[in-house]
Amino acid sequence: MEIIKDVFHKKSNKRMEIIDVTDDINDLIVKHQIDEGIINVFAKHSTAGIVINENESRLIKDFETTLERLIPENNNYGHDLIDNNADSHIRAFLIGSSETIPIKNGSLDLGTWQRAFFVELDGPRSRNFVVTIIGKG
Ligand code: ZN
Repeated sequence: MEIIKDVFHKKSNKRMEIIDVTDDINDLIVKHQIDEGIINVFAKHSTAGIVINENESRLIKDFETTLERLIPENNNYGHDLIDNNADSHIRAFLIGSSETIPIKNGSLDLGTWQRAFFVELDGPRSRNFVVTIIGKG
């Protein structure tokens, strides 16, 4: 059993953007030659998140629209007096900053329609993700 630490970086291009990072994560499993175990992906940011769901373009748009509807921008938030991105933080509270996914036969053991996403909530900017793998080759 090994414990491996690594990172990957991803750049967003919009204020809110949902980016499929499944291949980035699988590449790290291959790079470290892990066959069985678990992988944790952690966004080191309070206005970005990691989430698992289906990569269907209309659903992605629906998710963005729902976040905007539930947590609108400029809604008299206290934090907006400090740096004007309270909506980004509150959306991130709901999404969460990490996911832990099983590894099976050298890749992510996801359901048929499941993918891993980086959810940008205050872009565009470059983001860092810490990856911890516990497993064996
Ligand atoms: Zn802030």
